[in-house]
Amino acid sequence: MRFLELSALLLVAGAIVATAARAAEGPAAAPVAVAKALFKEPRQTEDQGREQLAAFARTWHSREEWEARARNIRECILREAHLAPLPARCDLKPIVRGRQERKGYTIENVAIEALPGFFVTGNLYRPASGTAPFAAVLCPHGHAKDGRLAAYTQTRCATLARMGAIVFAWDMVGYGESKQLAHTDANVQTLQIWDSMRALDFVLSLEGVDPKRVGCTGESGGGTQTFFLAALDDRVTVSVPVVQVSAHFFGGCQCESGLPVHKSDRHDTNNVEIAAMAAPRPMLVVSDGADWTKNEPGVEFPYLWSVYRAFGAQDKVENAHFADEKHDYGPTKRAAMYKFMARYLGLNLKAVQRECGCVDESDATVAPETLKVFTADHPLPDGALKDSAAVAEALEKARQAGGKK
Ligand SMILES: [Zn+2]
Repeated sequence: MRFLELSALLLVAGAIVATAARAAEGPAAAPVAVAKALFKEPRQTEDQGREQLAAFARTWHSREEWEARARNIRECILREAHLAPLPARCDLKPIVRGRQERKGYTIENVAIEALPGFFVTGNLYRPASGTAPFAAVLCPHGHAKDGRLAAYTQTRCATLARMGAIVFAWDMVGYGESKQLAHTDANVQTLQIWDSMRALDFVLSLEGVDPKRVGCTGESGGGTQTFFLAALDDRVTVSVPVVQVSAHFFGGCQCESGLPVHKSDRHDTNNVEIAAMAAPRPMLVVSDGADWTKNEPGVEFPYLWSVYRAFGAQDKVENAHFADEKHDYGPTKRAAMYKFMARYLGLNLKAVQRECGCVDESDATVAPETLKVFTADHPLPDGALKDSAAVAEALEKARQAGGKK
């Protein structure tokens, strides 16, 4: 995600609100000092990132110590993201329409309810043939206009479906068809994490999906969604965060570091450690030479490797680094992901390979308009929440209901 000055202003405002809320809850260590420390700049220097990672490495020396550290980070992220307790899981009430038959796969336009009246809009790609059980792959996208409908997203979803996976791609909050909240809303980070968890609920609710084979992969802001989901929800069994795992960059958007999920009075971490919380589940980290992941092979990956080694699982973490490439989820990066997903999710890579061994991604897109679930003929249902205040109220109600369970 690009760093925006506006984001920085929003971050500071969010920190003040979060700190005030914590002070109202009860004693917190030195609230004024915390207020200053809570908020990192979204970007540190590369040296600061390197030094911070080295300092984190000195805090643990065994699998048990890492697990204790990871447990605390998880609890703190959930608390700071206002997801402790998790909201009650309402009926998803899937709306499914617009099925398209394609060569080797089908596409359906889907909406589910993350909260009563708050919709997650997406597309479900299924293999045209094969028998259950099927692996599932979640495909969040980054900060690109209509990212879910973009050719590169369609292509990766279609290809994974042709390899035998059931695939779900959904809109970021405030992007594409997700119009109930602006992306600048105070609850965007909370709801973006919650939407990912509900997307996971949705694929696992589908008949024939194997809960032991669930992948997640996205680029940039979708990479952030990928490693947060894998860190917070053990049901993700394989993850491939793309062009986002960095020791010196925290995302820079309100949906990535708008809440103090990286630092509070009780924790201090970065996106490398959050990605490492997927250990020992298989993870491929994809990086490039032109953004904040340019140091991945020498800085971030050794840390990830050391965490996996603590589990005796160092063979389960890999880095595909494209030094001559830029910040995207292009063909070579997708090819590395297909291979990794095929290996760990039992997908059929040969089904999409030409004789040369390269992946055939031709004829993998449709007109974006045909992928929309809500149209003039099929508008948002009457019960849809109308504005930010209504969504905030529904979220609070669900959280209270979740806390009573
Ligand atoms: Zn964002």
